[in-house]
Amino acid sequence: MPCAIAWFRRDLRLADNPALATALASGQPVLPVYVLDDETEGVRPAGAASRWWLHHSLEALDADLRRFGSRLILRRGPAEETILALAAACNAASVDWNRAYDEGSRNRDAGLKRTLAERGIAARSHNGSLLFEPWEVATKAGQPFKVFTAFWRACRALDAPSRPLPRPDRVAGPGVWPDSDRLDEWMLLPRKPDWAGGLRADWTPGEAAALARLGDFVDDDLRHYPAARDRPALDGTSRLSPHLAFGELSPRQAWHAVTTRSGSAAAEKFLAELGWREFSYNLMFHFGPLDRRNFRPEFDDFPWQATDEAIEAWRRGRTGYPIVDAGMRQLWTTGWMHNRVRMIVASFLTKDLLADWRIGERWFWDTLVDADPANNAASWQWVAGSGADAQPYYRIFNPVLQGERFDPDGDYVRRWLPELAHLPAKTIHQPWTADSPPDPGLYPSRLVDHAAARGRALQAFKELKRAA
Ligand code: FAD
Repeated sequence: MPCAIAWFRRDLRLADNPALATALASGQPVLPVYVLDDETEGVRPAGAASRWWLHHSLEALDADLRRFGSRLILRRGPAEETILALAAACNAASVDWNRAYDEGSRNRDAGLKRTLAERGIAARSHNGSLLFEPWEVATKAGQPFKVFTAFWRACRALDAPSRPLPRPDRVAGPGVWPDSDRLDEWMLLPRKPDWAGGLRADWTPGEAAALARLGDFVDDDLRHYPAARDRPALDGTSRLSPHLAFGELSPRQAWHAVTTRSGSAAAEKFLAELGWREFSYNLMFHFGPLDRRNFRPEFDDFPWQATDEAIEAWRRGRTGYPIVDAGMRQLWTTGWMHNRVRMIVASFLTKDLLADWRIGERWFWDTLVDADPANNAASWQWVAGSGADAQPYYRIFNPVLQGERFDPDGDYVRRWLPELAHLPAKTIHQPWTADSPPDPGLYPSRLVDHAAARGRALQAFKELKRAA
C-alpha cells in the first residue's frame, strides 16, 4: 500500500502540525521522517548547542510517536536526494512538510517539489512556523514592510491566526518500516569534553516540556511580563525561544494560549515579541540572506577593526565590563542569554570593539539553544545598525548604565561572576571604582574605555553616513 511521508524539520511536535495532519488525513499509512542535512549548499548546519537540543528533541518526538505504535525514521544526507530515495523505496504517494523561509531551504524545497511532481508524487508544503506568512503582510503599495511598528499594525489588522490543530489521536504506520539511522550515531551530543551540563540543568527539550512551559508562563508569569521582562536577574520572560525555534511549540499555540487566557496589556506585550519574530522572518524572506549580507549595503564598506584577542575576550566573558561578561558566561553555560543582555553584548562587540556583527552572529549561532536563522541575524543587524528598522547609529549602549538600570541590585552579575559577588550594588557594574577592586588575575581590567570607544565608533559611523 502506498504511504504518506510526513517530513519533520523545524516542527518537532505532533499537535498543530499541518504537514503531519495532512499526511494523516490522506488515510494512508504515515511515515514520519527527519533528515539531518549538513550537506546542501546554502542550508546552514546547526551549531553545537542546537545539535544538543536537536538530539533530545528527536528522542522525545520518537518516544511520542512510539506511543501510537509509530516511530521516527532518521536519515542523514542532502535532504532532496534523501527524501526522493525514501519516497521511491517506500512507494510514497505524497510528501508533506512545513515551510522554511531561508533562501537555501526554499531553493532546495522548490527543487524537491518539482521532482516529486514529475514522479507523480504529491508534494505539499504548509505553514507550521509563523502566525502570518511573509507574502500575507504588505504595505498599501504591495511592498514588504521594513519598519516593525507598521508591520505589526498591519498584522494585527488581519484576521487572528486560526486555532491550533489538535494533537492526533492515532498515527497509523506502514506494515514494514524502512531502515533508520541510530540517533546516537549522529554524534549530536558533545562527548570529549561534555560541556552540556549547564544545558541539561536548565532545559528539557521536547513537545511536552514546551507545552508545560507555556502553561506555567500563562498561569504564573504573564501578568508580570511587562515589568519583569527587562530584568535579567528575574525569570521574567517565557523562555519559550528554543521550543519555538525547534517547532516543539507553534506560535499559533502560544498566541491562542495567551489571548484566550488573558486578553490584557501583558498579553499584547508578549504578542508583540512574537511579532518581532514574525518581522525577522519577513525580513529574511524578502531581503535575505540576512546572516551574510548587510541589509544596508553601505555597511559593506564599514571599517570593522577589532583584534582577535578582543573578540576572544568577548566570547569568553573577559571584557572587564560585568554585565557583558555575565551575559557571555550565561550563554556559554546554559545556551541562552536574556534579551536585554543580548542587546548589551551585541552593542559592545559591534560598537565598543568595532567587530563585524557576523562574528557575533556566528558565535551565537553555535552557542545558543534557540539559534534561529531569522531572529539571530535580524537582531544582530538591528543592534549593529546595518539592519532594517535598526537602532540609530548614535545609540550605543553604555554597559555600566545598562547594568545599573536593569540589574540594579547586581544579582545577575553576582550569579554569573562569583569573583565579583562581594561587591556592593553601587560598584558591581564598575568594579574599577570599588574601594578594593578585584585582582586582575581574578577579574580582568577593562578591555576598552567605553567613553573613548564610543567616540571612536561615532566617528566611524558618521564617516559611513557621510560617504553614503
Ligand atoms: P520572550 O520575551 O518570552 O518572548 C517570546 C518569544 O518571542 C521568544 O521566545 C521569541 O521567539 C520571540 N522574541 C522575543 N524577542 C524577540 C526579538 N527581539 N526578536 C525576535 N523574536 C523575539 N531569538 C531567538 O529566538 N533566536 C536567536 O537566535 C536570537 N538571537 C538574538 C541575537 C541578538 C543579538 C539579540 C539582541 C536578540 C536575539 N534573539 C533571538 C531575540 C530574543 O533575545 C530572544 O528571542 C529572547 O531572549 C528569548 O527569550 P524568551 O523566549 O524568554 O523571550
